[in-house]
Formats: sequence, structure tokens, C-alpha cells
Amino acid sequence: MEITVLGTASIGGVPEWDCTCPNCAVARLDPRLRRTRSSITATVNGDQHVLFDAGHDLKKQLEANGIVPRVETAGETFRESRLDSVFLTHGHADHTVGVAEFCTGKSFEIPLYGPPDLIDFLFGSEDRPNYFGELGRLARNYVIPIKLEPEKTITRLCELEITSFEVSHTKVLENGRKYPSSTYAYEIKHGDRRIVYAPDLGKLDPWLLDRLEGADVFLMDATFWWDDELDRISGIPITSYHLGHVPQEEAIEILKGRDIGRVIFTHFNHTNPSIVENGEQWKKVEKAGMETAFNGMKIKV
Ligand SMILES: [Zn+2]
Ligand SMILES: [Zn+2]
Ligand SMILES: [Zn+2]
Repeated sequence: MEITVLGTASIGGVPEWDCTCPNCAVARLDPRLRRTRSSITATVNGDQHVLFDAGHDLKKQLEANGIVPRVETAGETFRESRLDSVFLTHGHADHTVGVAEFCTGKSFEIPLYGPPDLIDFLFGSEDRPNYFGELGRLARNYVIPIKLEPEKTITRLCELEITSFEVSHTKVLENGRKYPSSTYAYEIKHGDRRIVYAPDLGKLDPWLLDRLEGADVFLMDATFWWDDELDRISGIPITSYHLGHVPQEEAIEILKGRDIGRVIFTHFNHTNPSIVENGEQWKKVEKAGMETAFNGMKIKV
């Protein structure tokens, strides 16, 4: 299978619209250094793709990576979807607002899977309408929301087996409910090949480390390098752990030497110093034998 990394940033992208920090300033000057919100696609034959998360930049990302309708096959309506299905990890905006993109023209009825509380949060019902419930006025049934329980495996494109599992990231309320939804990571298997996608991850628990053993690729949350990064750089006294992200410098130590084919970091906040090419933290990632994802990166397994 082939993975295309559509985007590699956290909620604000790089540059952030209102920021002049060194990472944002340099990205504003050099398009190569810009990062759109994290999202990937998986494909077997390059024709149809399974999308994981849909953020603010979805349309731009699909166009940039050639996942677009083709005149030859679109037919009389001029419309074609190259997306077979969508899997969402959780309810934060950088993973969901792109769903609005699917409301145009034709009812493709794209299956859209996510944690049950996320499907409720996004789509509601006719009795209790939520934001995406009535977006597709021209294209009714533009997506088909499907509640996916944890540890369920869905086969798409005949050969890809996609398994959901819950990870810590979103806020846990006093009544135990996750806000705005619970968070999944996804395991994507093709034959004996296995990729784990966890763009938002609050803890590298022992059970998760066991699960990662033998994976070909682990694409993982690298929102912040330091736990106190927001305080250091933006003067906001909130820690990485508090926001539900394992700091990257700790993740490297925990994952070093484990039986994982490739560890690739993604979902970078604009403040993360490891996105500075050849900078101190960039080199630390390289030295650990790990990788920094970039927009448009292809991963073949
Ligand atoms: Zn996120
Ligand atoms: Zn910035
Ligand atoms: Zn999140």
C-alpha cells in the first residue's frame, strides 16, 4: 500500500495566520516549509483512496496530491470521487472541519467512520441536528456517517483492513465522557504490512507499546517538542501533556530501540523546534533513526 501524507501540522498550520515566530516567519517566505493540517490517505492501486481525517486544508491537499476527478472517467455529471471512505480520529477542528467539503454536487454517499460519540457530536439526528447534519442540501447523503466501536476492523478497497482503537488525547469530563469526543488511532493493514496512525496522542502506555511491536510504520503526534513549549515560546502556561500530547523529546526516548520499522513524526505545532531543517532537534530525530514528515510525503509499505 501507499500512504500519502497530505498534511503535517496541528490546528494552526505553519505559518499560523497571526504569528511571526521564527518558524512562521521563515515558512511565510519559503513555501517548502509550510505545513497544512495533519491528514493522510491510503491506497492500494493509486486509483481510490481511504482518507484519515479531514481538516481545514482538505481541498488544497487533494489538489496538490492529484487526488482529483478525471475528465475521462467523470462522465456526464462531470463528477467523480477518488475517495473511497473517510475515517476520523476525533472531534477537534483540524481533524473534522474538512467534512464540509463533501457537500457539493453529487451524493457520493461516502462512508464516514468515527467513534460513536464523534458521529453524534458531528451529525446528531433530525430531532437534534448538529453542524454537519444538514450541510449537504444539494447533495443529500453526501457522506454516510457510521459509528465505529473500538477494536473493530473494516475492510475497504477489498484489501485494506482498518482497525480502530481508543487512545488518550481528548479531555475527560467528571462524568467520564470525553470532550468533544473520544479519540481513535487507526491500524491500517495490507497483507502482513501494518501502519499505525496516531496524529493526536496523549500517552505512550505500555499496552500501546506492545501493540506497536513489529509495525512497519508508526506515524505519531509531534505537536510539541517540550512539555513546557507553549510557555517557553508563546507565553501560554499550558503544558503539552495537559493538551493531550506526548512531548516529542520524551516520545523519542520511549520509542528508541523498539521493534518498529519506521517512526515518522507529524502533527507539528508551529512552535516545535524539530521542524527547523538541520536544527538541533531535527538532528536529534535523525540520530534516533526517526523521521520528520512533510506535506506530500509518500510512504510505501
Ligand atoms: Zn489535532
Ligand atoms: Zn508561529
Ligand atoms: Zn486533537
